Amino acid sequence: MPGFEFFGDEERKEVNEVLETGILMRYGFDGPRKGIWKAKELEAAVCATFGSQYAQLVSSGTGALTAAMTALGIGYGDEVIVPAFTFVASFEAVLSVGAIPVLVDVDDTLTLSPAAVRAAITPKTKCIMPVHMCGSMADMDALIDICNEHQLILLEDACQAIGGTYKGKKLGTIGDAGTFSFDFVKTITCAEGGVVMTNKESVHIACDGISDHGHDHTGVDRGADLHPFIGYNFRISELHAAVGLAQIKKLDQFLSIQRANNAALKSILSTVPEISFRRVPDEAGDSCSFLSWFLPTQDITKAVVAEMKAQGILGGHFYWFANNWHYIHQWAHLKNAVTLNHLHPDLKAAVIHHANKDFSASDGVMSRCVSTAISLLWTPEQIAQKGAQMVAVINQVLAAPKQAV
Ligand SMILES: *Cc1c(COP(=O)(O)O)cnc(C)c1O
Repeated sequence: MPGFEFFGDEERKEVNEVLETGILMRYGFDGPRKGIWKAKELEAAVCATFGSQYAQLVSSGTGALTAAMTALGIGYGDEVIVPAFTFVASFEAVLSVGAIPVLVDVDDTLTLSPAAVRAAITPKTKCIMPVHMCGSMADMDALIDICNEHQLILLEDACQAIGGTYKGKKLGTIGDAGTFSFDFVKTITCAEGGVVMTNKESVHIACDGISDHGHDHTGVDRGADLHPFIGYNFRISELHAAVGLAQIKKLDQFLSIQRANNAALKSILSTVPEISFRRVPDEAGDSCSFLSWFLPTQDITKAVVAEMKAQGILGGHFYWFANNWHYIHQWAHLKNAVTLNHLHPDLKAAVIHHANKDFSASDGVMSRCVSTAISLLWTPEQIAQKGAQMVAVINQVLAAPKQAV
């Protein structure tokens, strides 16, 4: 997935243009900036590339989710449905607006199970946040139906699925709003950055203000701007936007390499009949930043992951051993609602309740899953070698007597 693997002269050129003016701020300084507006240019490029009507750059993907939820009117006491498998930023953003993250199971798409979403809806539910994890998409038609039926907001966390599509539409542009992260490991990087995409003018105007202390950006200068509501600071700098501008121009190249490398590894793993692959609601739309696959049982998966680790093969996993980031069973801080400040007791109780439900359906999927991150730098020989090593480990485990597993 990482754009940082293809970093070079293009990024340096864009950044140097900013350094030459010395104007690092994305707003104002109209004279001294000599026509250099990297953030504005990148916003226009995001709209053109992904087909969203509006784009608001911010300082991170977490900031994008927080700004989007605020703009969509989500606040204290509202319930936001998020998957039990995601990056921690998804529920952090929900908590930051005072809302309750209602964690629900994922299915073999590794994204929200529509049936589990349905079962989790209450009168307090305000928003469904599908997370297009590991490059591929949630079952959007099913989720759109649920949103329409219950008049809920659909906010896509597409931070890991830049360039993916669903039935011809770019992921992140299907819901009421969608977000990308441009952090250091994402498909396009700004070092740190993010964007909110939406087709709703009011949501965009709100995000523009929220991300810059409520400024409405209509004054003749910054001092003359009005502040129709209280905002925050999620601004991106011109330096970060400059990096992103160089990166977005390489997106098609990133995606075609990603897809080729993914397909090459998949064809090697497909030779093992016991392996099955993640269900992708629209195969043509997979951004292919990961290849996610399943083994028949938890025990076999654990043994394969352990052996790959022992041999130094990067297989990728989110469930076994020390991966403390992406799945509910590692989130002790969320399960106990540990914050450094004071949460309202009702909110705290709700957070603890929803993080401690039965996630055995997700466990059944995640404990058999291996998600291999696809490098843009792999050569065909390296893919062949890596695939062969993985297959050897899997076959060794499958051949081992049961008690050894
Ligand atoms: C990376 C990521 C984020 C947050 O992005 P940052 O830019 O690191 O704040 C949110 N959601 C998911 C699924 C991510 O992978």
